[in-house]
Amino acid sequence: MRNRLFRKITRLVGKAIGDFNLIEHGDRVLVALSGGKDSWSLLHALTYLQKKAPVKFDISAATVHPGSQGFDTRSLEERLRLDGIPHRIIGGNILETVNENLEVGTNPCSFCSRLRRGVLYTFAASEGWNKLALGHHLDDFVETLLLNLFFNSAIKGMSPRLLSDDGRNIVIRPLVYVKEEMTRQCARELGVPILGCSCPYQGMSGTRRAWVKALLSRVEMEIPQVRSNLLASMGRIDHRHLLGRNERKDSSLQLRPMENSLGGNGLDEPCSQG
Ligand code: SF4
Repeated sequence: MRNRLFRKITRLVGKAIGDFNLIEHGDRVLVALSGGKDSWSLLHALTYLQKKAPVKFDISAATVHPGSQGFDTRSLEERLRLDGIPHRIIGGNILETVNENLEVGTNPCSFCSRLRRGVLYTFAASEGWNKLALGHHLDDFVETLLLNLFFNSAIKGMSPRLLSDDGRNIVIRPLVYVKEEMTRQCARELGVPILGCSCPYQGMSGTRRAWVKALLSRVEMEIPQVRSNLLASMGRIDHRHLLGRNERKDSSLQLRPMENSLGGNGLDEPCSQG
């Protein structure tokens, strides 16, 4: 598929790669393929750019099996075989770990997403993939920013390029400029099989994220470019006009995260199946 939408997505992915130095010569890029619309769009955009770009890099895809009975990867594997994209299925007992360790007030899908990320980090490091590409898109970036502002009292979002805490992996998010609606349409046009989680927790992902999503849709009616503005704000930070360390000595400014009507203080991860 090389239509207008796909060309626009690859242009935006190419821009993100250039702006944030996401892929360099000789990189080995592992794409986390959940089987959702975002990761499919990312995988196809990157494999297209791989053929066009002067920079040489390897690509492979990996899918973390959550361990649910109904998670059937056959259609996904068949499509990857037809597209000639190398792929591995990894993990397996994620849901068992979720069931055994889920704490009250924690969203199972957020917990599951973190566990899957851990599995991917370990796999990428052990197999020599130096970059791990995740399918978070523009909407995920701005929703995370607002979630942190509203519920965690922090000005914090996502980074398009991030060194993991243990220093083993570089996480890249090349869809930073791509809106969710574009990935939805792209996956439809690619005709890729979309996998659901097929798990008892399905539908429980991100109450607060869903609320922020709905809020942004309402604001967008009055400010059509609100998402792009919020994303741009993450790159234009004026520390002088925020609360610096000196000002924080004023105890009246020692604010605590507030409990909220939507439950808990933890932050919803974007669902891995997006
Ligand atoms: S529904 Fe939630 S908990 Fe279940 S596999 Fe999907 S992300 Fe994980």
